Amino acid sequence: MHSLADLMTITERHQVVVVGAGIAGMVAARRLFDRGLDVVVLEGRDRVGGRLWSHRLPNGEIVELGGEWISTGQDAVMGLVDELGLVLVDTGMDFISRDPVGGPQLPTTDHARVAEALVRRMGEIGQAALSSMTAAELLDGLSERGPAMEVLRSRLQGTAGASLDTMAAAEIGEEFGIGDEGRYVRIEGGNDNLARSLAAGLDLRHGRVVDTIHQHERAVHVLADDEEHVGLAVVLAVPLAVLATLRFDPVLPPLVAATIAALRMGSGAKVAMATQDPPDLFRRQDMDIPAWYWTGLGPTGAVRRAITGFAGSETGVSALLADRLGRIRRAAPECDLVGEPVAVDWTADPLAGGCYSVIGPGQREGLSALASPIGRVHLAGEHVNGSGTIDGAIRTGEDAARSVASALVF
Ligand SMILES: Cc1cc2nc3c(=O)[nH]c(=O)nc-3n(C[C@H](O)[C@H](O)[C@H](O)COP(=O)(O)OP(=O)(O)OC[C@H]3O[C@@H](n4cnc5c(N)ncnc54)[C@H](O)[C@@H]3O)c2cc1C
Repeated sequence: MHSLADLMTITERHQVVVVGAGIAGMVAARRLFDRGLDVVVLEGRDRVGGRLWSHRLPNGEIVELGGEWISTGQDAVMGLVDELGLVLVDTGMDFISRDPVGGPQLPTTDHARVAEALVRRMGEIGQAALSSMTAAELLDGLSERGPAMEVLRSRLQGTAGASLDTMAAAEIGEEFGIGDEGRYVRIEGGNDNLARSLAAGLDLRHGRVVDTIHQHERAVHVLADDEEHVGLAVVLAVPLAVLATLRFDPVLPPLVAATIAALRMGSGAKVAMATQDPPDLFRRQDMDIPAWYWTGLGPTGAVRRAITGFAGSETGVSALLADRLGRIRRAAPECDLVGEPVAVDWTADPLAGGCYSVIGPGQREGLSALASPIGRVHLAGEHVNGSGTIDGAIRTGEDAARSVASALVF
């Protein structure tokens, strides 16, 4: 009778195995490598960055098919940008004002008024009560009505990637552009430059889809197809939806397993298309589906010749993908579009399973179960701190590296 390990064609030993070359995994791998540890990174795709994915359109413009908006108030990203010598590009955008597609241009003051009413109401209710009510309940309680309120509702649902009655009201924060004064920037050459720069010199294996984690007193065994990687610790930096499908031997502690099972990821899709001439700087909210479309400044300070769109929630994703060209045309009728739109459905991607985690009422407290090491297993990724952001994912990578280092470095 052969054991599972006997059937593996390759067995390798390292001090640390990092699974997932998204930004969280790359930060963890880099920090541990820089501390002198022998680290291998196993990645299912043929590229690094995961949900950071920058794409060059036929006209040369680089668009973000994954995480895009970075606020200058996000310290973890800003620190990494400085450290890696990357350059920030001002997008010229704010998050607050969006014009309804096909509708009248709403005065910025209208958008600001409803956003302020929301922030005020959140202050009155208080964090504790907000975390146990849904975002839909919060919005229903506002006395503001009218087009700017409808835009706000549609954009919050789109940004969450989920129906507002599944998200805790307390989660409406900076990444929703509510109450955030920061400038929005991108990384020159594409946001996935963050992950690509961290990868330099690391032992990175592509095309390795991990499915099983077996740990015992002396080591942890990470299985990917016909390979086995044995380490003293593993950083699991795969998205929540993938984490939920991995086989653990022994099984995860009940609290950790229950937390993973209870959390959900939002649905999200992006489309992008080249334009012949530089369009106006705009952000337009589709009022039929939870989707929006925007342009932005490029590295030279001129508006890029590209339009990008994001749809959040299942209904938004399917409607946008079913008629991507038609929706972009309706959103930007004045633009001379070139070629075909590129599109990514993150929910259908088996190595993502959604755009980012959605924290429901009462779920944030449970996240602490994910942040502590589970024997030799250390979790990282945006879901671990429930941030749903690039900045938050970086912080979980730093935390995981610290927790591995304190377990292994004497
Ligand atoms: C459409 C979209 C828009 C977004 N917009 C923003 C935004 O504007 N601002 C912002 O801050 N954030 C945004 N985000 C969120 C942000 O991109 C993510 O929070 C962040 O990139 C997640 O990083 P991560 O390392 O946790 O996960 P990931 O980037 O998903 O990395 C996980 C890695 O694990 C790999 N993997 C998965 N399963 C396996 C397996 N079994 N074996 C081996 N490898 C595996 C994946 O291929 C991937 O490379 C957006 C995300 C999406 C999808």
